[in-house]
Amino acid sequence: MSERITFKVLYIEDDDGLARLFQKRMSRHGYQAEIAQTGKAGLQMLAHHKFDVIIIDYQLPGLSGLEILETLGKKTDEIPVIMLTGAGNEEIAVQAMKSGATDYLTKDVDGNYFELLPLVMSDAIDRFRLKAEHKRMQKDLQEYAVKLARSNRELQQFAYVVSHDLKEPLQTIRGFVSLLEESLDGALNGESSEYIEYIIAGTRRMERLIEGLLAYSRVKFHKMKVTQVNVGEIVKQVKQDLYAISHNKHAEIICDPMPVIRGNERLLLRLFQNLLDNALKYCRNRPPSVHIAVSETDDEWHFNIKDNGIGIDAKNLERIFEIFQRAHPAKEFVGDGLGLAICKTIVENHHGKIWVESKVDQGSTFFFTISKHL
Ligand code: ADP
Repeated sequence: MSERITFKVLYIEDDDGLARLFQKRMSRHGYQAEIAQTGKAGLQMLAHHKFDVIIIDYQLPGLSGLEILETLGKKTDEIPVIMLTGAGNEEIAVQAMKSGATDYLTKDVDGNYFELLPLVMSDAIDRFRLKAEHKRMQKDLQEYAVKLARSNRELQQFAYVVSHDLKEPLQTIRGFVSLLEESLDGALNGESSEYIEYIIAGTRRMERLIEGLLAYSRVKFHKMKVTQVNVGEIVKQVKQDLYAISHNKHAEIICDPMPVIRGNERLLLRLFQNLLDNALKYCRNRPPSVHIAVSETDDEWHFNIKDNGIGIDAKNLERIFEIFQRAHPAKEFVGDGLGLAICKTIVENHHGKIWVESKVDQGSTFFFTISKHL
């Protein structure tokens, strides 16, 4: 059997007959009414009991309805209050609303307002519940933002300490392995030389990873300065930086006319560097051919970089944007799986999104957006 929810009403009304009638009629609608015959008695009851809604008759002996509202003060933010006024008392109704009443209802001689009261009450209760829920959610959100800021600060410190402090012992290992190699010069057999080479290769890789992590945490946590950035100039610079590789691979990089946009120059340079570097790196059997294009909407720039490389399996299309995730074997393509994670962070810092579409052996197109409202 479902249990019926009852709401508790405090009805401040000096007319005993009306009060009893109210009690009877409202109980049919799920309201349990307590009656106070004066404002003073009502305020006392409020101090000791919880109510979901208060109904106040405007005309009362002693404290008037408006005076009760004034005494309630801030309490009207917590409990809905409905004022019952006489016909032609619109000014009082307006005053009551100004003093914190949630709603008002005009008493008519036929007692029709009794029919309306349950509706007005449930509407007022609903509105208050929504308001309370909204307040609670705002408070939760604020607490969440504070926690997030704290955990970001901690993470930033952690990333910095890990990356920075790990570098020193690693350099010590590398230094002593070199010394060991020198001091054992001639005494090393083939096998032990090989072990030493593994140690050196391992420490080099670890150094690269730590550098990558430092770069990632710098991009992720540092506040970025926004200026006007000429994307055409950025692409030109990246092409120059990659000249040796593209020349060796007989690559062709075509770039459509690029706009001047708002963003962080250093980060955007890094973004194009990583994406173009990958476009030239992940290819086999044919010279790389890369095309950079741009379009725009009212709110965003849409860039895309299309290559004719080895492509990416559908199952890896999202994963590769996470830190240390790779889709191809390190034996064939050297890398640490940090480049695209850095790209994603840069794009997110510019309030945009990054994604890729690709077909294995045919090529990939990386898309990213940059907000125009930075
Ligand atoms: P890295 O290149 O150092 O491995 P990235 O984060 O730049 O790290 O790339 C992650 C992975 O995504 C790469 O290991 C590779 O498998 C895949 N990838 C990135 N760019 C391309 C591309 N243009 N074509 C094919 N695969 C790509």
